[in-house]
Amino acid sequence: MTAVKIDGRLIASKVRDEVNVRVQALSKQGVVPGLAVVLAGDDPASQVYVRNKERMAGRVGINAQTIRLPETLEPSQLRETIHRLNADEAVDGILVQLPLPGHIDAALATSILNEIDPAKDVDGLHPLNLGRLLAGEPGFVACTPSGCMRLLKESDVICRGRRAVVIGRSTIVGKPMAHLLLAADATVTICHSRTQDLADRVREADIIIAAVGRPEFIKRDWVKPGAAVIDVGINRTADGKLVGDVAYDEVAEVAGAITPVPGGVGPMTIAYLLDNVTRAAARRANR
Ligand code: NAD
Repeated sequence: MTAVKIDGRLIASKVRDEVNVRVQALSKQGVVPGLAVVLAGDDPASQVYVRNKERMAGRVGINAQTIRLPETLEPSQLRETIHRLNADEAVDGILVQLPLPGHIDAALATSILNEIDPAKDVDGLHPLNLGRLLAGEPGFVACTPSGCMRLLKESDVICRGRRAVVIGRSTIVGKPMAHLLLAADATVTICHSRTQDLADRVREADIIIAAVGRPEFIKRDWVKPGAAVIDVGINRTADGKLVGDVAYDEVAEVAGAITPVPGGVGPMTIAYLLDNVTRAAARRANR
């Protein structure tokens, strides 16, 4: 069997078209959606991600600004920036690009990020939004898992009653992903670095979401024939090649559907960021 390749670029452009229609309607009401991205330091990958977010936001008519803070920033500078953006009426969504520079203590960083107004938390990382997801209430959901759900939907992958395995338990990908699959009536297993017999767990899955951060980690013989495989991982190999967490060529021989890297989940993450910003702006318009 040869898997159907799930075209994330194509599906993301469809999402952006939908967003664009909503942005146009908001503009007619005098509301231009605004996104503020806070970029601290000079991490090269973060610079690329932020540039892409800014570019894509511009394409759909969202007003995006990047606030650059120095690598050596004091935590208080980040806190003040967040407070200023919380109070800015023209800013609907605030995103702090991670990782923050290493000298900022992780617990302190989390407590500062939690000061983002939950109504502007377009990354879906605020405990209030995470709690809403858990409770099945409307709120902001992290962009990557939302994008993965849309990829499944557009590929006619049925979640109800099927077994899904999420590999990775981060707050930004693994955990919200598992809750979205649960809300779609899948039977969900979350695997992580301490999981025993990982290959056996993955082999049980009809739907596999790989969010590990290890190049070509998931092998062909871990995958049930016909399973849908969504590869969230972005890894750079020693020779500079971009690969996912799934050994694409060999897994594509057994899977039913599979996302490539690049061109799978990545474009969807940005598309759903734009979707979240537009939803935040719609709330402003309704106030
Ligand atoms: P993370 O490092 O926070 O989490 C990785 C998870 O993998 C952890 O929960 C850990 O328990 C698990 N893990 C590590 N080693 C394992 C092992 N040997 N067996 C089983 N589980 C193991 O990473 P993250 O932020 O969740 O990101 C995961 C990957 O997805 C990274 O490659 C990241 O670059 C990528 N990512 C891509 C997008 C996108 O838009 N495509 C967005 C976010 C993250």
